[in-house]
Amino acid sequence: MRREREPIPKTRSEFILVKCPDCSEERIIFSNSAKDIGCQGCGRKLAESRGGKSVIYATLVKKLG
Ligand SMILES: [Zn+2]
Repeated sequence: MRREREPIPKTRSEFILVKCPDCSEERIIFSNSAKDIGCQGCGRKLAESRGGKSVIYATLVKKLG
């Protein structure tokens, strides 16, 4: 007897490493975050939540998947 597979929600979310344009502090953020993300160094807004998808204001360093 097989169990039915749970549907996996397909989201294009990923973790990304970004760098603050002001103070160069690097930070890993979630591209689909439900809240705004601020820089830990200077408080600059790095990502803003907008309808389930974040708008990134920081410099993208690399994607972590
Ligand atoms: Zn900063």
